[in-house]
Amino acid sequence: MRRLLPLLLTLTSFAAESGAPVGKFQQLETTLPSPSPQRLATGAPGAGYWQNRADYDIRAELDDEKKALTAEATVTYHNTSPDALEYLWVQLDQNYFAQGADSRAAPNQKRGVDLKKFSYAALDRLLAYQKYDGALKITQLTDAEGRGLPHAVVKTMLRLDLPKPLKPGEDFVFKIAWTYPINDAKRIMARTGYEFFKTDGNHIYTIAQWFPRMAAYTDYAGWINKQFLGTGEFTLEFGDYKVALTVPDDHVVAATGLLKNPDEVLTSVQRERLAQASKETKRPVFVVTPEEAKAAEKGRPKGKKTWRFEAGNVRDFAFASSRKFIWDAMAVAGAQVDGQPVMAMSLYPKEGMPLWDKYSTHAVAHAIEVYSRHTFDYPYPVAWSVNGAIGGMEYPMICFNYGRPDADGTYSDAIKYGMISVIIHEVGHNYFPMIVNSDERQWTWMDEGLNTFMQFMAEQEWDRNYPSRRGPAHKIVPYMKSEKHLLEPIMTNSENIIQFGPNAYAKPATALNILRETVMGRDLFDFAFQEYSRRWMFKHPTPDDLFRTLEDASAVDLDWFWRGWFYGTEPVDISIENVAWYKLDNRTPAQKKADAKADFDREEASVSKEANVKGVPATVVEADPATRDFYNSYNPFSVTPEDEAAYKTFLGSLSEQEKSLLNSNRNFYEMTFRNIGGLVMPLIVEFHYADGSKETEHIPAEIWRKNESQVTKVFVKEKEVVKFVLDPKRETADIDESSNYWPRQYQPTRFELFKGGSAVRGAAQGDNPMKKANKK
Ligand SMILES: [Zn+2]
Repeated sequence: MRRLLPLLLTLTSFAAESGAPVGKFQQLETTLPSPSPQRLATGAPGAGYWQNRADYDIRAELDDEKKALTAEATVTYHNTSPDALEYLWVQLDQNYFAQGADSRAAPNQKRGVDLKKFSYAALDRLLAYQKYDGALKITQLTDAEGRGLPHAVVKTMLRLDLPKPLKPGEDFVFKIAWTYPINDAKRIMARTGYEFFKTDGNHIYTIAQWFPRMAAYTDYAGWINKQFLGTGEFTLEFGDYKVALTVPDDHVVAATGLLKNPDEVLTSVQRERLAQASKETKRPVFVVTPEEAKAAEKGRPKGKKTWRFEAGNVRDFAFASSRKFIWDAMAVAGAQVDGQPVMAMSLYPKEGMPLWDKYSTHAVAHAIEVYSRHTFDYPYPVAWSVNGAIGGMEYPMICFNYGRPDADGTYSDAIKYGMISVIIHEVGHNYFPMIVNSDERQWTWMDEGLNTFMQFMAEQEWDRNYPSRRGPAHKIVPYMKSEKHLLEPIMTNSENIIQFGPNAYAKPATALNILRETVMGRDLFDFAFQEYSRRWMFKHPTPDDLFRTLEDASAVDLDWFWRGWFYGTEPVDISIENVAWYKLDNRTPAQKKADAKADFDREEASVSKEANVKGVPATVVEADPATRDFYNSYNPFSVTPEDEAAYKTFLGSLSEQEKSLLNSNRNFYEMTFRNIGGLVMPLIVEFHYADGSKETEHIPAEIWRKNESQVTKVFVKEKEVVKFVLDPKRETADIDESSNYWPRQYQPTRFELFKGGSAVRGAAQGDNPMKKANKK
């Protein structure tokens, strides 16, 4: 059987490439990977599903003077795969900062340099990055008994060569020790680092990608050991963590996991406040007050303290540490783990007030409430939001977020909503990808797109008029209108994406929102999306698992949708090309003669006749031709007794049912739609009637199945239609709405008047007038 396989593959690929154009409704089976005992055709994990695990026992010390981290870990790797492994791959993400790292050559847009917009700060960052060597130095790598292990460091990956193959079901324990200098995150930008405060000389450390993490070994792609180039994030295994963090004794620490030694690191007052906070769901309680944090800023440590954290079933571990931290906390209403309330908590410096004390912990709790309702109950005991130098980055149970008021304590709506959005988003990442653990190195959209979609729903529940940036269909139009060479399918590897935010965040989020609101409806979509989340909770889903599950749980064939929105780049641009109006000829003699007279009148109204009339005296102008019987009594437009008799005979030949159909007096509108953009979508047509009323009809995308470029459909209406509008609620992301009206409706495009070669503007560039107006 095995020998036949290559031949079959050849035949399949020949069929796929034989030149026949791929239809928009062609099923995805030829594109998706074949189902397997691990990944079923339903999109669910199968009985053969497996994934490996890694448990970590780590001791780390933060040196506040040298701004360096030194640590050692015992890693227990569990091979639950059916395969014997010759070596293990370990991720050394910190080597991203090594001199000569691939990341320095990679076209990472974060370091993309537009010299025309270069500022002092940008130049400083570029030069600092050039000089910086932040590589991780391994000081020890041995087996459990202390015997050295052969290994090779391949840039951001480490291959650990096993003494003997690790068989299915076996564990391998190794010990590793390392050290590295921590980056100044304001200058060497990354997802980790410290922020230095000139005014008081203190630092906030937000530390991540700081320990050697096991690469994922998978059924679908083997080892996920693609190098870390800066854009494609992290693909990680689940495991249990015990982490002891030694820091200056005046620091406050937050981390992934539950604090196991509060008696050693918190004062009795702080422990009492924490207990009080666990009973509070409406208003956060200060565990460290702003006054206490301000006092701590002025002091210096007397020694060290070790904070011990434990986390079960997480794919990563991050932490934050500083003497500047104010700490507030409350319980998330209705959320419990092991009989204890889930705690929403925030850490921020005084510079974060009065924004962080007002909104951060509320935003954490809100995100958990909304996401849990749409997916599964939050399974971890705590959720932290920490304000430092990192603009927005997610880890299990903890995230780092931006958003500070100006020095005078005022802030704009843009900062306020930006901060709430980023906290909802980063807390939301607990669900995707921290628990629904997709492959970030390969597919950014699988966590960012799904999370941005959920973020939109949570924002809309926060505030009815929430200024959501991404989600509503019409907001993706500018991206979909981009020039072809700037567009890539959503199904593009992270490192290749040109327009990162629109492609990996906004477009998939919009597509899911369109599925929910327009294609499937909320009930079907919500059920199917929840099914996907639950099926893949604490597992590694791939794109096909999502595509298949949403169809499996809804009975809606969505292959056309995945093909168009996820595998294609075409936009939606559908036009009402024509509307023809028909009325049934009921064949009464009176109607027939009236129609004949109308035709005659039209023919008579010739241009020559009009010119002749102008050239002769008014007295000679002929009377209406229909009343010319002053010289001829015959009127060809009057109904004769013969006409009446013929009509009576005709009526007599009809059954009662046929008679009622003849007199139904309906309007028939034959509408022609043209698919200009290429992406097939449902047709949503709004009919405006002569009496001022309106009605909407939804035609599913299936209308395009036989002809993908033009379709005609007849709509039967009792009332007369005066206007037709396609997609009146802007739910399909149609990039040219001027063709969505019949009769055509013209909308002005505003143009600017230029004076002296440039547009006259109300405010200088970089000065946001919104900000001034909204300061509060
Ligand atoms: Zn994100």
